Amino acid sequence: MTSSVTQTSAPRTRYPTVRNFVGGRFSSSTARSQLEVVNPSDGSLLSHVPLSSTSDLAAAIDAAAAAFPTWSTTPIKERVQIFYRYRSLLEQNRAELAGLISEEHGKIESEAEAEIAKAIELTEFACSLPQIATGEVLEVSRGVECRMDRHPIGVVASIAPFNFPSMVPHWTIPNAIALGNCLVLKPSEQVPLSAQRIAELLTEAGLPPGVFNVIHGGQEVVEGICDHPGIAAVSFVGSTRVAKLVYRRATANLKRALALGGAKNHLFVLPDANPDMAAAGVLASMSGCSGQRCMAGSVMLAIARTDHIIARLVEQARALVPGRDIGPVISREALDRIRRAVDEAVSAGAALLLDGRYPTVPGREGGFWIGPTILDRVRPDMAIAKEEIFGPVLAIVRTPDLEQALAVENASAYGNAASVFTEHAGVARQVAERASAGMIGINVGVPVPREPFSFGGWNESKFGAGDITGHGSIEFWTRSKKTTTRWSA
Ligand code: NAD
Repeated sequence: MTSSVTQTSAPRTRYPTVRNFVGGRFSSSTARSQLEVVNPSDGSLLSHVPLSSTSDLAAAIDAAAAAFPTWSTTPIKERVQIFYRYRSLLEQNRAELAGLISEEHGKIESEAEAEIAKAIELTEFACSLPQIATGEVLEVSRGVECRMDRHPIGVVASIAPFNFPSMVPHWTIPNAIALGNCLVLKPSEQVPLSAQRIAELLTEAGLPPGVFNVIHGGQEVVEGICDHPGIAAVSFVGSTRVAKLVYRRATANLKRALALGGAKNHLFVLPDANPDMAAAGVLASMSGCSGQRCMAGSVMLAIARTDHIIARLVEQARALVPGRDIGPVISREALDRIRRAVDEAVSAGAALLLDGRYPTVPGREGGFWIGPTILDRVRPDMAIAKEEIFGPVLAIVRTPDLEQALAVENASAYGNAASVFTEHAGVARQVAERASAGMIGINVGVPVPREPFSFGGWNESKFGAGDITGHGSIEFWTRSKKTTTRWSA
């Protein structure tokens, strides 16, 4: 990562140097520069990550292209056997894998473990692909048959963000590979360690060399992925600014692309909501993973008389202890940016109900800590109500009725998720139908669809057709072939 290290010590991770993984082997990069990888919970130096060049990328694409003819023609039932074994390895190494996430990302133990549980679930879905990604056949007229088969696309790429070092790579790796593609992963340079272990475990599971490759780096590699003629499809997960760049560049080069971007998710809270459920749901949504989730609820639309719920929310949020219940944010830069956003909101007239800006975490003073922070009386035109903050900060916007709350949500540029807390089915239905978001929660603050349902938002939270996981991913990672047959009687 780019931040300077506040406490330097000898790297203590099992990966003191991060290496690319090309053609089944870890290899050194030709990178001219590298970045420090820092543990966000204490600022200590963990490792170094190379900023690989386009020639490193080209080597990975060559290795993937060499593996493709055999891998793509291996029957899918055989291909998924690797993922059955891989799933067992994830299970066996659960604690160690979660520890690696906590080390590089700072997540508290339960959140890191949840990430591995999700990686397992995503792998299980890939194991089910032979059952659900079958073709179709129909006698379309007497003696004439049409059939549709699914074929892999070729060498594909997956570009990942920092906030889920393991789960987001697993959104693409198992499905893309089980469907017969060979993949190049570009992890976030801020959290490159988990990808090392993923490569080791896929190899242990028996994945042939070249089917999965990892190239570490930043902008140069991403642009290279978008430009290289050997890459057929690009999936991207990250901020909206970069999602737009990647989507434009990849599609301009006539590649298939799906680019998931940032978010500003709204939580509609009605006076009739179950107060415990609503307060707990809003709190988990705004503060889970320290607010560094594209599914984090960061605007609470407090509709009419909801003071009793807000009071409960603030009381519960106050009880969260940074370092025990909530992890740090990813970097010094992120911390400074989040604090600045809160300062600006207060200057613009927001009321600070809970100020988590400067917590102390004994023994880990070098970490990038911010506790839950709740701002009330936020106006919809304030930056804090519109822009993604990506920290444990909640902006409460009060509206007199549901119509005005829907107007605020509908005006957002983003559209990942929206949740409603109410006991009234009709109101819940209204929000579910009219919110301009791809994923809806009803009394659920983080409405991530579980497999086999697909993950994907609307508006500036996603560019491209289809979704990245579940059924939606089958369409993205394959192309269909239609064959019409007639035989003589
Ligand atoms: P980011 O956009 O900064 O980085 C994502 C990837 O793009 C990284 O691999 C990075 O190396 C690369 N990159 C960064 N700048 C680039 C540039 N100028 N040109 C080319 N490549 C570049 O995102 P991040 O900070 O790592 O992750 C947080 C963001 O990701 C948030 O906005 C969050 O909402 C979003 N996110 C979205 C989803 C979703 O499903 N919609 C899921 C997770 C995270």
